[in-house]
Order: sequence, then structure tokens, then C-alpha cells
Amino acid sequence: MLEKVVIANRGEIALRILRACREMGIKTVAVHSTADTNLKHVLLADESVCIGPPSSAESYLDMPAIISAAEVTDAVAIHPGYGFLSENADFAERVESSGFVFIGPKADAIRLMGDKVSAIRAMKSAGVPCVPGSDGPLGEDNDENIRLGREIGYPIIIKAAAGGGGRGMRVVHSEASLVAAITVTRAEARAGFGDDTVYMEKFLEQPRHIEFQVLADGQGNAIHLGERDCSMQRRHQKVIEEAPAPGITDEQRNMIGERCVNACLELGYRSAGTFEFLYENGEFFFIEMNTRVQVEHPVTEMITGIDIVREQLNIAAGEPLSFRQEDVHILGHAIECRINAEDPKTFMPSPGMITLVHMPGGPGIRVDSHIYSGYNVPPFYDSMIGKLIAHGADRKAAIGRMRNALSEVVIEGIRTNVPLHQEIFQHAAFRAGGTDIHYLEKRLGLA
Ligand code: ADP
Repeated sequence: MLEKVVIANRGEIALRILRACREMGIKTVAVHSTADTNLKHVLLADESVCIGPPSSAESYLDMPAIISAAEVTDAVAIHPGYGFLSENADFAERVESSGFVFIGPKADAIRLMGDKVSAIRAMKSAGVPCVPGSDGPLGEDNDENIRLGREIGYPIIIKAAAGGGGRGMRVVHSEASLVAAITVTRAEARAGFGDDTVYMEKFLEQPRHIEFQVLADGQGNAIHLGERDCSMQRRHQKVIEEAPAPGITDEQRNMIGERCVNACLELGYRSAGTFEFLYENGEFFFIEMNTRVQVEHPVTEMITGIDIVREQLNIAAGEPLSFRQEDVHILGHAIECRINAEDPKTFMPSPGMITLVHMPGGPGIRVDSHIYSGYNVPPFYDSMIGKLIAHGADRKAAIGRMRNALSEVVIEGIRTNVPLHQEIFQHAAFRAGGTDIHYLEKRLGLA
């Protein structure tokens, strides 16, 4: 077992990791910025180290500061959570070359998946269905690119291989604007990511976002935990997630899940990971793999009973997976609402002092949140202050529990998006299930 783990993150995921460590008898070190001395997990950790000023660049993204904190506290491993350095291959490499365990995949796997062109290649060779596209980077030959565009059929999307966070993409509706779009996306990619590799894909017009959770131990064992539907998005940010995805059959789940497992085995993948797909007209199209734990992992935990963070810690300690595929059973339905400190109408961030908190409870309700009465939400980071998760025997039951839970939430002193969630849960289309990734923005009049 790992003796002591540095939690290189903040907020709810840092608390989630701390809880898993404590359950397993692992000592914890919280590293934090000067703005985060009062974070719940910092107060609960066995040790804490201040690693810099509020700016993420000088704290949560400061690799030497984090590795030094591991050194001075005699920790053995570093958990990166999500965001910040979690998908930074150089960080994973530096952590391991400094003699610590990186709680995640090997640097090579992060690097391979961080480049979308190489990720798609690896997926194709493992039999994972991908979006019809250019089969590699676009060259400088305009005529050839025009020919490719015709072959794929409009609309198409030009994407930067190094893109992320919804940046570095451009939709092209007709041949007339293709060459200019490639040039502009290339320039943006060069400026934004230092890599001007771009590729071309068919643009799917009304897809759903469906992703598969995997766990692999890097010792020849890999399983999938089914899928999540994360189509409720605003500006490419997920707002509500659920598992299983409405309308997906066992046959589809088994088929795509098996392909993802195969890909993990072929790559020698280790730790938790997510294969993201766009789903349209009954077909799955791989778009990217996230090589880390995800915000929405709890909905999968609720329907499978498997603790994904605990598995990550076990795998990092060199243990084989504690489950086989046949041990994974999906029970009921779970939904997660991301609670953000923001205005529910304008989406303007709303940091500040939380004067009072009452979180809901009862059967099937889980709250993953670091906030408490008297906690001051700093203005420097992501506005997510927690997640409310409801599990029920079926989707209708989970929705019923979530509506109750939302009505019980009391967070005073700042504004939150709880009223937005309450509104969405009244939408007939959402309640019917299976809405596409544009639904929310259209419905809110934002698209
Ligand atoms: P990022 O790494 O920036 O998140 P992704 O490749 O995951 O990039 O794409 C982000 C989002 O862009 C997707 O969730 C989807 O909304 C949209 N998108 C990407 N590729 C396509 C495509 N081929 N057709 C339609 N939408 C796409």
C-alpha cells in the first residue's frame, strides 16, 4: 500500500481523494496556494504545505514546488486529480523520475492521448470506432485538402491535434471557406498550443456526448464500468451527467466497452481513464481519451458500487485490479448536478463568503463538496463548488430524488446555479432523456 500521498489539487476532488486515502489508512499531504489555507481537505489532511500565491501558474501548476513538497514530507506518491497537471505528461515523467509514484497512467500514455491525431490512430488500430476524417494531419496541399473535404462531406470540422478545453476547432460548412479555415486554425493552434498540426473530421450536427469509464492495472487487466451521458453542456462545460446513458442497450454497452478495454490492453494503459464518444443515429464515434479521474466519476460509482479513486490508489501501489468484468453490474440510475458559484442567469462567477450551508441527504443522495458555512470561495479558480448526486432504482426515481435534493439545498452569501438545475429538471425533453449536446444552449436561448 502507498504510505503517504500528496494531493496536488484543490476543492471537491482534493477532498474526494483525501477521503479515499483516509479510508485506506493512507496518510495525506495537502499542497495549496495562499488563497486556499481554509480549504476543507487542507484542514483535514495529516500535513499541508503552502506551495505559492493564488495564481495557479505559481502554485497548482508549479511542478518543482509540488515535487519538493513530496520530498520534504516523505510522501511516496502524487495524485493529480483532474485539471491542473493531471494530463501533463512532463509532470508525470518528472514525478516518476524524482522517485515518486504518479497516480495515473504512464507519461507515454498521457502523451499519446494528449495528441488527438496519435490518439485517433491508436484507437483505430484497436478497433474503436472514430469519426470519419482525414486519417492523420492535414498537409499544405490545398487541392488535396479540398479533395478530402469532398470525400468526407460537409459540414466538417478542422481540429488542432494539441487542442483542448473546446479550443482549437473550427466548423466549415462549405468548400468555399475550407482553405481559409485550415489556415486560421493552424495559426491559432501554433499560437495557442505551440503545435500547428491540424486534422479534419466530419462534423456531427446533433450528437450526444457519451463516454466510457475504464480501469486498468497495467498488468494485463482492464475493465469498463459502462457509460455516462454528458450531453447537458454549456460552452463545452458539462452541467449535468448521468449513468447509464438513456436508450443505450446492453449490447451497445458491451460492444463499445469491450473495444475500449482492448485499447487499454493494447496500450498497456494503467489507472482510470475515459473514452469520449459522440453518439449520433445509433453510432459511436471516438473523439478523445481523458487519462485521469473525471468530475463526473461519481455517477458511475453509484451504479456499479466501485470506488474509482480507491482503485486508482490500489493500482498505483502495484496491486492488480480488484474486479473482473463479470463482477461489474449496473444497478439503477444516477444523475449528477455540478453546483457552481455563479449567477444562474448570466453565468457570472459569484465568489465570496458562504454564510450558511445546508446540504440535502436521504436515501440515494451523495454530496461531494468542500464548502461549509464560513468558507470563502476564492475568485481565482474554477467556479465549481460541489456536486450533488442522486441514485435511484431507475432514471425516474433518480430524477425524483434529485428534485427533492435540489429543493433542500441552502447556500447563502453567494449565488449558485441551483435554480438553473431546478429549471432543467422541469424540462419535458430532459425528463424524456436523450437530448443532444446543443439542447441546453438552445433551450436557454444562448445558441
Ligand atoms: P477538447 O479536447 O477541446 O474537449 P474534443 O475533441 O473533446 O476537444 O471536442 C470538444 C467538443 O467539440 C465535443 O464535445 C463536441 O461538442 C465538439 N466536437 C468535436 N468534434 C466534433 C465533431 N466531429 N462533430 C461535432 N462536434 C464535435
